[in-house]
Amino acid sequence: MTTAIFPGSFDPLHNGHVEIVERAHRLFDRVVVAVLRNPQKSDPLFASELRERLIRECFTHLGHVEVVTMQTLVVEVARSIGADVIIRGLRAVSDFENELQMAQMNQQLSGIETLFIPTGSTYSFISSRLIREVATFGGDVSLFVPEPILREMKERFRD
Ligand code: ADP
Repeated sequence: MTTAIFPGSFDPLHNGHVEIVERAHRLFDRVVVAVLRNPQKSDPLFASELRERLIRECFTHLGHVEVVTMQTLVVEVARSIGADVIIRGLRAVSDFENELQMAQMNQQLSGIETLFIPTGSTYSFISSRLIREVATFGGDVSLFVPEPILREMKERFRD
């Protein structure tokens, strides 16, 4: 049985993330989406508990996806859930340098390998930060996020 962990902030989860999880789901027996709870980031759009709940709702169509919240190093969580690889999505060259450093650090710390899944071109321009910005100014993000996230964002930005 092979397990992959897909760590991230997912604040909010968007269709670029969904595509990565769907593709990982075809490759691995178990995919664990690990939502980072970062006490340093004082003002998240959604609290990590809500993010976890919404993300679970977004993947009910997939049989072997789990969602957890993490407050420690990815490699620690990976070890505790028995993950074989870390999955990260790659959008553009701009992602690469930082991702490479993290992959090397995680490999040194724990021996666990990182598998990069390149984004499909449809979603390469989407980021959680941009979605937050567009929504803050009343823009329509319905093309970029799954239904449960859209519902919660409408609630949050209702005036
Ligand atoms: P982090 O703060 O860890 O970068 P994110 O929620 O921004 O968390 O991203 C989580 C993962 O999803 C990262 O591997 C990131 O590269 C990937 N990702 C983000 N946006 C996209 C996208 N549009 N297409 C594919 N992968 C993406």
